[in-house]
Amino acid sequence: MKGLPSLERAVVVLSRFPGIGPKSARRMIYHLLRRGESAIQELIDVLEGVRDRIQSCRMCHNLSEESLCWICADPGRDGTRLCVVEEPADLLAMEKAGLFKGMYHVLGGRLSPLDGIGPDALHLASLEARLSVGTIVELVVATNPTLEGEATAHYVAQLAETCVPRVTRLAYGLPMGGELEYLDESTLYQAMAGRRDFRRDV
Ligand SMILES: [Zn+2]
Repeated sequence: MKGLPSLERAVVVLSRFPGIGPKSARRMIYHLLRRGESAIQELIDVLEGVRDRIQSCRMCHNLSEESLCWICADPGRDGTRLCVVEEPADLLAMEKAGLFKGMYHVLGGRLSPLDGIGPDALHLASLEARLSVGTIVELVVATNPTLEGEATAHYVAQLAETCVPRVTRLAYGLPMGGELEYLDESTLYQAMAGRRDFRRDV
């Protein structure tokens, strides 16, 4: 919009968020302007809080406000089972589904050679280190049911082959191409309950 470069810049920045187009971005800014200075300050404050306080858990790479996340710090969790997910949002989805009581490892993405994302770009070295301790009896590979997610799952399964007795994959029934984060809790619960051994199909 001519004559409003600061507003236009805000539209460009907000439009980068997933699911937000220029139209929604513009509505958000109009809304903030209508609500006034305090609403804008509140937004600045919460973003600063996220920037200053959120870190990566040193054990599993989940988002955390402490050096260990609330799951790694919980002595009631089953330390012999480990679930590998792509993103912190997938971990939250699994937690909401509520069946898994073990620990997690967040890869920070999925293998995608076309986008230049190879094994070194993911938290695979730290996963290998956790597996090599030899205390994990089951590794649940809960990467997304997409092509890249599948390729990542196979890579992880190979990594675990010599040091984990049981490697499982979430059951199908999950929509191919879907993302864990957007599945309803009961679908994810069923997928977890029906998880199958990985080695039969590799
Ligand atoms: Zn953690």
